[in-house]
Amino acid sequence: MLSDIEIAQRSTMLPIVEIAEKINLIEDDLELYGKYKAKINLKRINQLAGQKKPAGKLVLVTSINPTPAGEGKTTVSVGLADALNYLEQSTILALREPSLGPTMGMKGGAAGGGYAQVMPMEDINMHFTGDMHALTAANNALSAFIDNHLYQGNGCQINPATITWKRALDLNDRALRNIVVGLGGRFNGVPREDGFDITVASEMMAILCLATDIDDLKNRLSHIVIGETYDRQMVTVADLKVQGALALLLKDAIKPNLVQTLYHTPALVHGGPFANIAHGCNSVLATQTAMKLADYTVTEAGFGADLGAEKFLDIKVPQLEKAPDVVVIVATIRALKMHGGVVKTELAHENIEALKKGFANLKKHIENMQNYGLPVVVAINEFSSDTEKEETCLKEMIEALGVPVALTSVWEKGPVGGIELAKAVIETAEKQSSDFVPLYDMKKRTIQEKVTTIVTDIYGGSGVQFSKKAKKQMQTFAERGWDHLPICMAKTQYSLSDDPTQLGRPTGFDVTIREFVPKLGAGFIVALTGQVLTMPGLPKKPAALQMDITEDGEIKGLF
Ligand code: ADP
Ligand code: MG
Repeated sequence: MLSDIEIAQRSTMLPIVEIAEKINLIEDDLELYGKYKAKINLKRINQLAGQKKPAGKLVLVTSINPTPAGEGKTTVSVGLADALNYLEQSTILALREPSLGPTMGMKGGAAGGGYAQVMPMEDINMHFTGDMHALTAANNALSAFIDNHLYQGNGCQINPATITWKRALDLNDRALRNIVVGLGGRFNGVPREDGFDITVASEMMAILCLATDIDDLKNRLSHIVIGETYDRQMVTVADLKVQGALALLLKDAIKPNLVQTLYHTPALVHGGPFANIAHGCNSVLATQTAMKLADYTVTEAGFGADLGAEKFLDIKVPQLEKAPDVVVIVATIRALKMHGGVVKTELAHENIEALKKGFANLKKHIENMQNYGLPVVVAINEFSSDTEKEETCLKEMIEALGVPVALTSVWEKGPVGGIELAKAVIETAEKQSSDFVPLYDMKKRTIQEKVTTIVTDIYGGSGVQFSKKAKKQMQTFAERGWDHLPICMAKTQYSLSDDPTQLGRPTGFDVTIREFVPKLGAGFIVALTGQVLTMPGLPKKPAALQMDITEDGEIKGLF
């Protein structure tokens, strides 16, 4: 089998204008970024949003807890969309934009793999249409405005020690986690401690992804809390009067990007928050637009269903005003065997016992999605090491729960490898109705109750330990009237618990909340569990070591 970049290089893309025509967009609706990438302009987006035409079906792709064995949500999402189109259902993909952090760090981009990829993958994985850079610039512009405010007399009386707004960079750079700015004497600003978050974990990213139009974007920006005054009043972007400038910096980043798969399925790739330390879904604008333009929209939420899907359903759905019609849970036999206790080097051997044991992880995620009232389909993403006996065993366990299951081989075979899954999705969407019930009543429940519900109902834990600081914060937040916001958990993706070594379906555990971070612009409160970091580091052997470009521009080593 060829590498991802080799497959991509051997395929031909259609001009993006032709892809747009398939979904009734004309050239005037587009802003072209070369021949194969375009943004959809806001005039067309707003016009679609105002149309009475009911939205198409929404398919949310999620998975079991990820393991180093690989799950392949993006790959299955791309292959499913290609297969739906192959079956003549008009379908659009709505995916996140990859971050340079993982691209340069751990091997693996975020544009799918094998014969299920979004193109041009080398652009999408790096720089793309510049959205990440615009977000980084807007984020750091705000930092510059804050430091300038302190320097120019501090009219708002901001206490520098309370500033929570951090700088951002879309790279893994642990050296920037904690820094001191303003050093060098009187003319170089006011010294204070600061730090960097990765752009995809920043509030700017969350705001871009949840904003429904430019007004909403500006409104959200103005509500960002940057710190406190000396007499403990909160200071927002509105106090600094820079929401207009920040919105201006994001004027193009807010427009969804149109690209295509290897098989010319239209794909909106827009916005890219991580799912462990942020809310993990592509933009509301892209998903909304896709649903207006096609009968099926296939979208992916990051990491396992305990993180990405929970946040999709409790944070994004209220903005989207539409819940998924079908949830596809991706599982692999290899990963389930790891959840059943097998080490990575032993995965090539058949092991029915471990598969049965690890199935507990998948079962929990199925139950969780069903508890939201949503129809579930399981996609088994086939790997060449899977044995027939293992496949039969897994299928039987899933069918015993009354859940449709499909073997999927889109990585190896492209759209034809996804027909069984596409048929199961169509049948489920047509036959079963989605009766969405949110996990918690956002407006009526306290922060403590909401966090506890997530931990006990979704993670399967016994309870929550709040640190002294977290307890105090819950009190202050309630006094400030922030109780009505949803919770965005920052937790390890590897386990249902907050301990990455607890695989399978752990029970009897408590989750510790170290601290809360109010993100009033995004409109949620982040709950930090364990030692989760908002600026990752690079591994010992970063993926960057494989990458190269030749004299005539040929790219090498991009997965
Ligand atoms: P996720 O979206 O869940 O993070 P991806 O779809 O990005 O996962 O896939 C992760 C990696 O696994 C990619 O490099 C992809 O090419 C690879 N992969 C996915 N499915 C398969 C498969 N069936 N066989 C082999 N490799 C696969
Ligand atoms: Mg993915």
